Amino acid sequence: MKKNILIIGNGFASLFLIGYFLALPIFPFFTAFFRRIYSRYNITLIGNGQFVYFPAIPEFIIGKKSKKGITIDIRPFLKRRNIRFIDDRVIDIQDDGRTVLTTKGRYTNDALFIGIGPAFMLDDIPGTREYTYSPCSGPDTMEAFVEKLNALSEGIIYVGFKLNKRDGFVAGRGGQMYECATLLDFALKRRGVRDKFEIHLFSPNLEPGATGAITDRLQERGIILDYGYEPAAFIEGGLRDADGTTRKADLVLFTPGIIAPEWIGSSCLPVSIGGHIDVDKYGQVKGLEYVFSAGDCSNHEAPPPWVPHQAHMAQLRSESAAKNMKSALKGNVPSDTYRFELSCILNMENDGMWLHAASDDKPPFWGIFPKHSKKLITVKNMFERIYLFYLRYL
Ligand SMILES: Cc1cc2nc3c(=O)[nH]c(=O)nc-3n(C[C@H](O)[C@H](O)[C@H](O)COP(=O)(O)OP(=O)(O)OC[C@H]3O[C@@H](n4cnc5c(N)ncnc54)[C@H](O)[C@@H]3O)c2cc1C
Repeated sequence: MKKNILIIGNGFASLFLIGYFLALPIFPFFTAFFRRIYSRYNITLIGNGQFVYFPAIPEFIIGKKSKKGITIDIRPFLKRRNIRFIDDRVIDIQDDGRTVLTTKGRYTNDALFIGIGPAFMLDDIPGTREYTYSPCSGPDTMEAFVEKLNALSEGIIYVGFKLNKRDGFVAGRGGQMYECATLLDFALKRRGVRDKFEIHLFSPNLEPGATGAITDRLQERGIILDYGYEPAAFIEGGLRDADGTTRKADLVLFTPGIIAPEWIGSSCLPVSIGGHIDVDKYGQVKGLEYVFSAGDCSNHEAPPPWVPHQAHMAQLRSESAAKNMKSALKGNVPSDTYRFELSCILNMENDGMWLHAASDDKPPFWGIFPKHSKKLITVKNMFERIYLFYLRYL
């Protein structure tokens, strides 16, 4: 009997899992035939069918990327792999992971992978929902932000982030907001109106007076550093401080800390102190057999404090989860663990920086790329093109 594998979500974590789980990493259209004949698993994926390449969203600000270019209908990718697609949303998981409920149905499985991505702590600072935009909310919100930005000829823009560190790592999006601030600077300079705007970068997670390469890049661009600052509330036309004073802002781009989607709390899955799906170092959901999770919805066991949620980390975790799931299905004990690595290119459009840290101190790509160079923007675009080509055609 073939085993039934169920995957929830069609984001980075789930698609990387598929890549590592199947015998072949790529499936040009003619090989799909063989997958149909030779297949040890029946795989089903529940999702919305639309993959979003989030790392490109900050570039909406400079007009180089758009929703159309970074959103992919993932159904052909799944079809080539003979994976059944269910266009639906999961609302509950029961029976120690063996039963998954959606808005329209009920699905059972022999092994389950959960890659449902992040939820954001929108109620942490009042007014976040009503008065801020976030690149993390997806292409539509970012396009709305850019439309507002382009309608302004002068003004004050606050860019900020808050991190959830309760699980001992960085559950939030700092790097992305630095990128947004520097790209804002570039876009306004290109329009010849930079001197008519103030750009502020704020975060309660940054020490006032902190120094370093990123701070240098922000200061070079005249970005005002509100390190250590957290508004008491976002309000119409600005931000309100704890003492009741207000700061004027024409636009606020803000991303709160990350947790797992709320419905996880009422499912049979364990939830960590920090609000993630609680997994062990093998990517296995604690206390549940044949249930795995990776990506922004799940925590880490004993992480280094600097490790962030990233597509890159989702890849490392999903690789390990795929190996462990296969091993468990063969009756073995999961034993594969993953490295911790922060790796991303900060695209400032007129400059680039590779932000990197690794638990084994290995440099990215054997150190062949420079750490600070405008050429890194080409490298970042190349990664994006290769990945989107893979999803579209292989
Ligand atoms: C602006 C921005 C820039 C970024 N830049 C970088 C970068 O340069 N480098 C990097 O490595 N990372 C970057 N990241 C982070 C990266 O995008 C995330 O870490 C990554 O998307 C996490 O993958 P995931 O699969 O966990 O979640 P997602 O990619 O968000 O996928 C989650 C999937 O689950 C689906 N889903 C959610 N709920 C349900 C449900 N109930 N039922 C069924 N399906 C569901 C969603 O539709 C989606 O398909 C960036 C993120 C943002 C927002």
